Amino acid sequence: MELKKEQRERYARQIAIDEVGQDGQKRLARARVLVVGGGGLGSPVAYYLVAAGIGCLGLVDDDVVSLSNLNRQILHNSHDLGRPKVESAREKLGKLNPEVELRIYQERFTPVNAGEIVRHFDCLVDATDNLETRQLLNQLSFEHKIPFFHGGVSHFYGQVMTVIPGQGPCWQCFVGGGAMESGSGGIPVLGPVAGAVGSLQALQVLKYCLGIGDLLVGKVLVFDGITLSLDEVTVARDPSCPICGDH
Ligand SMILES: [Zn+2]
Repeated sequence: MELKKEQRERYARQIAIDEVGQDGQKRLARARVLVVGGGGLGSPVAYYLVAAGIGCLGLVDDDVVSLSNLNRQILHNSHDLGRPKVESAREKLGKLNPEVELRIYQERFTPVNAGEIVRHFDCLVDATDNLETRQLLNQLSFEHKIPFFHGGVSHFYGQVMTVIPGQGPCWQCFVGGGAMESGSGGIPVLGPVAGAVGSLQALQVLKYCLGIGDLLVGKVLVFDGITLSLDEVTVARDPSCPICGDH
């Protein structure tokens, strides 16, 4: 299927990149990405994926917008207070790019409903604020053999990691070394730190869909907003990991 004239114009500045091109744009249009969490990380991830023209974006969040969200959760504004985050997000994302199919889940992502949600998508983005949901995402990534893009932020710091089942360690292998919670669960964070880390996650998802670049499999990229530096930490697969181990 050829791109329409309006699509060629909307995506002109990325189609002009050799590694994207019209073929890459068509690949993006076939991508179905689930973002779990519509807050500090979910905002930039969803905005950039929808702006780039992925085919379908799913968003899971059971929370409503509160005033203390607005220093970083840029999908929402002062008129959205008390509204479900997924409704606020659907409005903003639909206006940004009406071409993208939006699937909205106003519910908690739990072992009861998560399997049914995940089967509609071919990659998972961790924009959550708690360890339980992250563990569930990691487990579903392994079971469904689909990649999982982890992100977390706190204060001035953040981290991203990509899990591709069968190609490297999973998130559980990594957290033996300690896990970082993200901001929307009450942990302080400066908005641009969530913006930077969420943008890195979106970049990794787009590269995965395009089949280009280094995806950080077996590596955690650590963002330090104070020194403004990025460091890589190597993570090995743990043979005794309860998810991806040799058992
Ligand atoms: Zn593992």
